[in-house]
Amino acid sequence: MQELTPKTETEIFIIEFDAAMEAHMEWTRRILRCAVLQISPGDDVMSPDAHKLCRFGRWFILSRKHFDELDAEVVQHVEVLHQTMHDAIRSICNNVMKGAPGKLSDLDVFEQSQSELLTLLARLKTLTLSNAVRRDPLTGLPLRYGIERDFLLCMKDATRNHTLLYVVMIDVDHFKLINDTHGHPVGDLVLRHLADTLKHNLRTNDPLYRYGGEEFLWLMRCESVEAAHESAQRIVTIIQSTHVPIADSAPVTLGMAKVSDEEDISGAIKRADLALYRGKKSGRNRYVISACE
Ligand code: GH3
Ligand code: MG
Ligand code: MG
Repeated sequence: MQELTPKTETEIFIIEFDAAMEAHMEWTRRILRCAVLQISPGDDVMSPDAHKLCRFGRWFILSRKHFDELDAEVVQHVEVLHQTMHDAIRSICNNVMKGAPGKLSDLDVFEQSQSELLTLLARLKTLTLSNAVRRDPLTGLPLRYGIERDFLLCMKDATRNHTLLYVVMIDVDHFKLINDTHGHPVGDLVLRHLADTLKHNLRTNDPLYRYGGEEFLWLMRCESVEAAHESAQRIVTIIQSTHVPIADSAPVTLGMAKVSDEEDISGAIKRADLALYRGKKSGRNRYVISACE
């Protein structure tokens, strides 16, 4: 029977994660049986490349990109521990196959690295889950959870590099009309399309969030006031000339506030909102920059 709600990417990933962990536990049980029975446990234990051949190792290599985005340092540590664990167990098995006892030092290394490995994997699983709830499932954009921390980082960068930071509120024009005319599923498609267009056209290190319903928040870093005007106009023009699923375009209005020293994010958002309101009042499909700082 077809599922009513298809599994999300994260759910699928967690199922694969659990399957890879189970495969690892199965691998450990197999080694114990082989050691007791003195038969070879196979290539994914005895080969010098066993850490790349075992089911867990193959899955980890394939999932590397996802994990690197979460915490590259932990990922490196997992790789080292996994190989160390394999090296220790290979050494033990080689001895056992020759009819000699394994070394206590190898056993210690195996137990220690396996235990640390499992702890780090549990951490990566928690990170995967907490990261998923901080992301909007419709557009894939981050929700507002990390916004204050990102804002402070952007402010620090701006001060250090003598550059500027703008808080930009992007609101889709007459979006309710799209829902009312074509239905919410089409409205969803339009939102996804707009989010993709924004993602592809902002500078890669400019944070972009789905702030609310049909509102996106952009932390725009730029070199000068003129550059801010240019970037804002560029985005308005791109969105205006980009086809969406049901229309020639779905224009947006931008409300912007240049962040001043010592200003916090809520003050800057308030000013961006007021500028947005002026943009809506004066005809939409444009950007307006807050006059006061
Ligand atoms: P304006 O140009 O003044 O911004 O007009 P508007 O119609 O865009 O603004 P309004 O606030 O009246 O309507 C926003 C609509 O966005 C109402 C709400 O149902 C819709 N909306 C919010 N989130 C979603 C969503 O995730 N999917 C869909 N399809 N619609 C959404
Ligand atoms: Mg709105
Ligand atoms: Mg709107």
